[in-house]
Amino acid sequence: MKFISIVVPVYNEADNLLHFSSAIHQAMAPLPYQYQLLFINDGSTDNSLSLLQQLQAKDEHIHYISLSRNFGHQAALTCGLDQADGDAIITMDGDMQHPPALLPRLLHEWEHGADIVQTIRESTEGVSVFKQLTSRFYYRLLNVLSDVPIQPGGSDFRLMDRRAVEALKHYREQARFIRGIVGSLGFRQVKINFTAPPRFAGTSKFSLHKMITFALNGILANSIIPLRLSFYGGCLSACISLLLLAHVFVAYWLDDAVPGWATIMVCLSFFGGIQLMMLGIVGEYIGRIFAEVKGRPLYLIGQDSRIQHANTNQGGIMHEADHPECR
Ligand code: UDP
Ligand code: MG
Repeated sequence: MKFISIVVPVYNEADNLLHFSSAIHQAMAPLPYQYQLLFINDGSTDNSLSLLQQLQAKDEHIHYISLSRNFGHQAALTCGLDQADGDAIITMDGDMQHPPALLPRLLHEWEHGADIVQTIRESTEGVSVFKQLTSRFYYRLLNVLSDVPIQPGGSDFRLMDRRAVEALKHYREQARFIRGIVGSLGFRQVKINFTAPPRFAGTSKFSLHKMITFALNGILANSIIPLRLSFYGGCLSACISLLLLAHVFVAYWLDDAVPGWATIMVCLSFFGGIQLMMLGIVGEYIGRIFAEVKGRPLYLIGQDSRIQHANTNQGGIMHEADHPECR
């Protein structure tokens, strides 16, 4: 019988876990598959971990890996994809915004030959018009800038065949934007549309800072066009300053050279601003190169419910490097 892993990153989702697990069970129980529900606890500070421990004790399908701190959604997903051993791996959020009722459709597409079944969020119920508009604009911009097509509304709710997961595991970059990487993998990809319902409980765990980092990673990890644009911007401002120089000479020649303090100040601040902006873009890339060069682990595992003995001989702390399945 085929084995399916369902990977769910969790950060302070205590109010959702019970409802979510039983919804998964309802969706999977009638299907002819063995499955595991692998939660990745991403350094939750509420009682998510103790709830996971209780759930795991009661239900043989449920396992959890607890990271040593909060590493972020993309790192938690990466950990799940590294550690899950299903013939197909489904990744989804634990707040019911990725409806478990869609699982049979994902598996149906997989059985009919798809290697990657990508869900497309057509809209999200209860989300502000501002968030919807900025999201639409962002994906349009991303597609203009990136060489790889990135599906607007593409979410991290997807099924991947083992072959595709093994391919994805080769991508170890720090600035991770998994939906961009998956888009560039190739394989046979099928899309399914869905409308995301509001969260079952709690509020979004993506702070503005996390959102901006995620959005910047999406652009800067998939494109060097901002660097090129800053080069073109530099050329343009150099041309403008040449025109200004010509203007100064003509004024001098016509004996019309007024002090022009205002013009100088405007030019200084304008070009100063452009230069700082371009330095900022270069800095963003250098910062990312710095992070890549350090080559730090993408996440550290604190506890793995599948390896009970690790809790006894290492005081419950186990680092990724010690993990038998660690890459
Ligand atoms: N999440 C995580 N680590 C984080 C932030 C979020 O593992 O640092 C999890 C969160 O628990 C949820 C999923 O990622 O299962 C998506 O987060 P959320 O629902 O807050 O994002 P939104 O739907 O608002 O974009
Ligand atoms: Mg959500």
